[in-house]
Amino acid sequence: MDSGAFCVACGAQPPLTSKRLCEACLRVRTTFSKVPDRIQQERCAKCSKHEVEKRWVNIDDADLGEHRLRENLDVVSGATEVAVDVAYQPIDERTARLHVTVEGQLEGYDFADEHDVLIQTSNAVCPACTRRAGAYFEATMQLRSAGRRLSDEELKSLRGTLDELLDEAESDPMFFITKEGPVTGGWDLQLGSKSLTKTWARRLVKRFGGTIKESATLVGMRDGMEVTRLTLSYRKPAYALGDVVRLKRQNWLVSAWQKDGPTLSRLEHNQRTGVSWRDMEKASVVCRLDDQKVVDILNRDSSGAEVMDPVDYRVVTVALPYDDEGSGASLRIGFIDDSWMALPGHVAED
Ligand SMILES: [Zn+2]
Ligand SMILES: [Zn+2]
Repeated sequence: MDSGAFCVACGAQPPLTSKRLCEACLRVRTTFSKVPDRIQQERCAKCSKHEVEKRWVNIDDADLGEHRLRENLDVVSGATEVAVDVAYQPIDERTARLHVTVEGQLEGYDFADEHDVLIQTSNAVCPACTRRAGAYFEATMQLRSAGRRLSDEELKSLRGTLDELLDEAESDPMFFITKEGPVTGGWDLQLGSKSLTKTWARRLVKRFGGTIKESATLVGMRDGMEVTRLTLSYRKPAYALGDVVRLKRQNWLVSAWQKDGPTLSRLEHNQRTGVSWRDMEKASVVCRLDDQKVVDILNRDSSGAEVMDPVDYRVVTVALPYDDEGSGASLRIGFIDDSWMALPGHVAED
């Protein structure tokens, strides 16, 4: 130890800090932690979201309180082992109190501070709500069917996938619907976000097959950049997964969607083929999935089974599908070419 050392402030003997202060002088000169008495914040009056790190989000009040504290808390440099404890106490709709303790060490000495902070909330309107109120939209989605009018049921299932997406993507404030309604042959929507619209389009194609046509319209200039609006036109095919279609005088099950068209499976034997959307325009639906029935097997032998005709309750014999495993208690049948036919791909309980 340097026997000549003394506190530069009061002349006391060691121990001294790295800046040659005794403990008492260090404590006098140190503000270990600082936080304002009042913190102002804004809340969107329309959607109740708060701005956190430049994004408007839904956040739990207590979490938000901690976040505001982190934004405003200053701890002296060189502090170690810092621990912050916050108790959140709501007062009314617009005010809350934070009881804060900050503990830590400086130069090997323990420090502990307490603070009471008032959080005051004022009204604002977030950018998404501003745009929503101004009927802002970036993209249009047109839902159509190939060659016919979309049925209400189809429309409901197509539209339902957007609700799924909005639920999953709640955190993006631009994911909103500006306007929607029926048009001849389908349904149109105006949406707040291009990326939402594109994501939805991909989901529609994945789920229901079909094609998307994309076009952009120039609507103006902003900061020297062209501002465009996107129009996506979705065409749902006239057939769905599980439907039996006739193509080139063969019957096929629609078994999967690929990018360029559906995958078809032969009814009679294990054969799959990919077909383009264009080629499928020549296909006709022979038996929709909704019209197919699952029936109990009354008797079976190696090649056929007796089942009850679901329409007139007479016993009919149908050939077993090629993938029949010989023990299933039921079959899926479709009325095709004037008679009931058992379809492959049915998973039956034994
Ligand atoms: Zn001193
Ligand atoms: Zn808002």
